[in-house]
Order: sequence, then structure tokens, then C-alpha cells
Amino acid sequence: MKYVIDSKLESFLPVSQQSDFPIQNIPFGAGRWPTGEQVCLTRIGDTVINLSLIEKNNFFQHCGLKKHTFNQKTLNTFLSHKKPAWRAVRNTIAEIFSKENKEFEKNIDFRKKIECHISKISIEMPINIGDYTDFYASKEHATNVGSMFRDPKNALLPNWSHLPVGYHGRSSTIFSTGKEIYRPNGQKKKPSDDFPFFGPSEKIDFELEVGFITGSGPRNGDCISIESAEDSIFGLVLLNDWSARDIQQWEYVPLGPFLAKNFASCISPWIVTLDALEPFRSDRPVQNDPNPLPYLQQSRSGANFNIDLQVGIKPEGSEETIICESNFKYMYWSIAQQLAHHSINGCIINAGDLMGSGTISGPSKGSYGSMLEISWNGKEPIDLSNGTKRSFIEDNDTVILRGSAIKKDLKIGFGECVSKIIPSKSWKTR
Ligand code: CA
Repeated sequence: MKYVIDSKLESFLPVSQQSDFPIQNIPFGAGRWPTGEQVCLTRIGDTVINLSLIEKNNFFQHCGLKKHTFNQKTLNTFLSHKKPAWRAVRNTIAEIFSKENKEFEKNIDFRKKIECHISKISIEMPINIGDYTDFYASKEHATNVGSMFRDPKNALLPNWSHLPVGYHGRSSTIFSTGKEIYRPNGQKKKPSDDFPFFGPSEKIDFELEVGFITGSGPRNGDCISIESAEDSIFGLVLLNDWSARDIQQWEYVPLGPFLAKNFASCISPWIVTLDALEPFRSDRPVQNDPNPLPYLQQSRSGANFNIDLQVGIKPEGSEETIICESNFKYMYWSIAQQLAHHSINGCIINAGDLMGSGTISGPSKGSYGSMLEISWNGKEPIDLSNGTKRSFIEDNDTVILRGSAIKKDLKIGFGECVSKIIPSKSWKTR
């Protein structure tokens, strides 16, 4: 079955040149249709397409789907299928909305029912996330953080080059784009303080990440092999893994992140499939010092994806300043290695799990994926275009993540992952 949609294919639906969502993308999401029900969706350009109604009218009959796969609030049922079904659905959507499909193009009455402009749709969380794991797979980021929090000479701990380090996060506080997030309160203690104190975090930070969404993995102690791992990965989203650095620095020893990380994370609402990103494969950094153990050795070339990433800060009432430009190709550990490692002990992976890459920092300051690194833990504040400075994120700042892969005339993007920090809830009365 073909899985890359021809780069020359055009849709009869309007798609601007700048759009992240040409017919070669066909991402998957969920949202509230103007008639009130929440269903699974895709989009081409700014036209949102109701997959539940397409399914109801038997267009997906040959795709081997369970009944009512898309008449659901989230994509979890669709994710519980295997890659051939995911591909069949995507190919079918491309065929339906191709310029060559004159018959469908002229079927205005039906099209009016299943197409809707994005401005009329309330976009919701695309998946019900069962489990959330966050890795730490960027060597540049791990080196920067290790240098700041521990020792520049031994920034990477000995395990880091042998396995994709990660931790289990919480799925309850992961939101879709557009979320306002209360500044968290918590315990903080600087090295110079005698005792910890309690109050709003003063070091709120974004983390520029890409997350992958899984299909179902094996049961009964089996693992996902490195070579088959991508068959269990449905697609990617942008992920802002909000962090409170002052809370983190005090609490993380010896078990790792806890309340500094679980107050909020935000994802972009359209899951972009690996198939859509196939033309943008990129080689992973060389891994020969040391060689990974055999179960992590990945023979294929192009294990990473060349996706340009960008972060902007928009203070209330001011214009946005772009503060970071990075790329997903910098990851030391690929997504396949992350998933193979995650399941090597028999850990069960479910359809709709989210796995974050960890902060994606590039080699230079302009490509660092967190304020912690950009301002070097507050020592080097940066200038915003409205004349103010930032070491960390201030109240009423909106942080915008963007991502897109571009090659010749083809652009596959993620849209935006937007979230805003608002003042903390009062804590003095508690
Ligand atoms: Ca993170």
C-alpha cells in the first residue's frame, strides 16, 4: 500500500502556499462540529473534514475499521488499529479530496455536510492520553542542563549515552492548544537558603519538544523491536512541557521530576502521521562512542525527521518575539529507539500514549529549546521586541510553538501549540 501521497497531488479545496496542511499532510484531530457533537476530524488547508460523517456514508468500508471508529470524542479507537488501516484511511481521504475526483467535487450537498471552515470548529484534545512518558534525548539539552545543575566537566551522567533516559509523567494535566495555565505554587530552596519556602514559582519555563503518539503494543512480556517500532507510532505533535525550574531544582533529587513538571503540558491539536513526514527523514547523530547495546541498534538510515521548530513569546498587548529556532533532527536517540527501549522490559504500550522527546536544543544559543538554557538559568536575560527582558516566562506571556518540514514545494506542518501563563491562584489562605 502506498503511504506517501504524491507531492504533485492537488485538492479541489483551497490551500494557501503557506498552509501547514496541504493534501499531502492529512493530520488527525478531534473537535466540536457546529451541530454540537464532538467527533474525529482531519483538515486540508483551512477546511475541516468530519470523518464520522465520511465513515457513516461508507467511504471507509474497505479500510477494515471497527464500527464507529470516528464517531468518537477522540482518536483512540482509530489508534487501536494497525498501520495498514491508518494508511488506508489516509489514502482514501486523499482520493476523495483530490482535484481529479470531479464527481465528489460537484457533490455540493454532501460536501456542505462534511466540510466546515476551521473558524467554526472548537478544536479539542485529539486523544485521551493513557500514559505520558518524557524522554531526555537531546544531547545538547542534557549537556547544558548537566553543566548548569551539576558539573560542566561531567555534564552527561554515565548512563546517558547508553540508553534513552526518561521518566513517567502524568497525563491528567496535558492540554490542547489555547490553554491558560495558572502559575504553579510550590516549595523552593536556593542553595544559599537554610530552609525551603512556599510560593508561586519564579522560574516558569517552556520546553520545546516533539511528542509521538502510539498505537497498541504487545502484551504478555513481549517487547517492541527496534526495527518494528515505527509500526507502533501513529504520528507526532508539538509539545510544550511546561516546567517550574525553582521547584524542580529543589525537589528532583533523588527520584527525578515531580510537581515541577506535572502542572501543565500542551500539545498541538493535529497529529501529523509518520507517513506524511516520510519525505523529511534525516540521519540521526552518529552513535559509536559508545555503540548502543544490540536491542537499540537501528540499521536504517533516516531515523530522525528534519522538522524546523520555532518558539515565540508574546507578552500581553505586544507583538511576538521569536526566541528559539531548533530542529527535531538534532535528537541523539530516535523515536524508534525511545519506544524500543520503553518496552524492552515488557512495559505495555497502549493506543493513545504520549511520549515526549525531551527538550530539543540545537548546538547554538539561538537553538536552545528552553529559557533555562537561553538565559543560562537567569544569568543572561534576553531582549524582547517590546523593550522588556526575559529570564523566564512572566504572567500573561503567551508562548507559541511552531513546527514544519519544508522541501521544494512541499510543506508539512503542525500548526501552532499556544499556551499562556496567568497569575497563580492565591496560596496565602491555604
Ligand atoms: Ca520535558
